[in-house]
Amino acid sequence: MKLNTAAMRYLSNDDFRVLTATEMGSKNHEIVPTTLIVQIAGLRGGAGVGNCISELAKANLIARVKNAKYDGYRLTYGGYDYLAIKAFSNRRTVYSVGNQIGVGKESDIFVVANEKGRKCVLKIHRLGRISFRSVKNNRDYLRNRQSASWMYLSRLAAQKEFAFMKALYENGFPVPEPIDYSRHCIIMSLIPGFPMRQLSSHEDPSALYSSLMSFIVRLANHGLIHCDFNEFNIIILDEPKSEDEQFVVIDFPQCVSIDHVDAERYFKRDVDCIRRFFEKKLGYVSDDYPIFQRDAKRVASLDIDVQASGFSKKMVKEFEKAISESREKGEDSTDHEEIGEHNGDEEDEEEGGEEDDEEDDEGENEEGVDRDDEPEE
Ligand code: ADP
Ligand code: MG
Repeated sequence: MKLNTAAMRYLSNDDFRVLTATEMGSKNHEIVPTTLIVQIAGLRGGAGVGNCISELAKANLIARVKNAKYDGYRLTYGGYDYLAIKAFSNRRTVYSVGNQIGVGKESDIFVVANEKGRKCVLKIHRLGRISFRSVKNNRDYLRNRQSASWMYLSRLAAQKEFAFMKALYENGFPVPEPIDYSRHCIIMSLIPGFPMRQLSSHEDPSALYSSLMSFIVRLANHGLIHCDFNEFNIIILDEPKSEDEQFVVIDFPQCVSIDHVDAERYFKRDVDCIRRFFEKKLGYVSDDYPIFQRDAKRVASLDIDVQASGFSKKMVKEFEKAISESREKGEDSTDHEEIGEHNGDEEDEEEGGEEDDEEDDEGENEEGVDRDDEPEE
């Protein structure tokens, strides 16, 4: 999925109003009727709105959906990206967007900078992508599905990750500094280092091993299990601060409370991941490793604090359910596109002309698209 930053510069204020109107309309409409967009945008003169709509569609920020009972548009990922980045820009947390440094199944990672030139990381969550084919092959899919939309899911993931990162950062854990979030995007500090998976040797594997295991235990003592504690999500610092401070941990959307029914299993899985990596890659084996029942002793409750900060139990449940549903149903979801590649076929798909299984975000469920993050003026 490319990030269309070119459109950001030339959109007029009216275009932006119309884009925002489409976002607001999608709160209650899977496909936002054109008449509603016009109404919400509140611009005088219908022709003006029409021009804005075609500009936005040309830039792939909204997409026309013809096969609906009425004429309407939906926000695309590009449009949602635009709104988030515009919010960061208004808040002066992002001034420019640079290279993409990470591509995951469910996220895109870019280096960004603020006005002062400070480099940060923009993580764009992309959940709930469903291929066009799977939608077509499952006619009841849209009608019966209870899971939430890609917009809602991606936004929840970002919100959850930001909340956990903030709690951990404030409690002195080695995690990136959380800087800002909007919609499905978060901004955090850029960690100067490389993923642990690139390590092929280490001068003192036992020290690194111990500090990683201590991290897992300390995290559990604070009420949390990472659940994806692997060599991809541990960044080895280029300049270690000390023996105990040679890494930073990233990627928190799947974090769970130690009160989770599967906590023991998740804890063991994180521990085993590290043991396996050390054995395979660094030839280091140790009989000394933490065990949930024996070593996890609650001293603090970040799991509860995070809930109190806005990521409620209900949201956690909803999120877990939706993620597992979307993963089941969207297994053949599209891979990420190369950066810079033209992304001009989205409109065609929407127009119903070409058969293209790259459709990734067809169908939204209005339920739960609860926007507390309206774009700033
Ligand atoms: P995903 O959920 O797709 O795995 P991650 O948060 O793990 O996303 O990020 C993917 C990759 O991007 C990481 O493996 C890492 O190489 C890079 N990355 C992410 N966040 C940072 C950061 N704050 N500083 C430096 N590199 C980062
Ligand atoms: Mg990761």
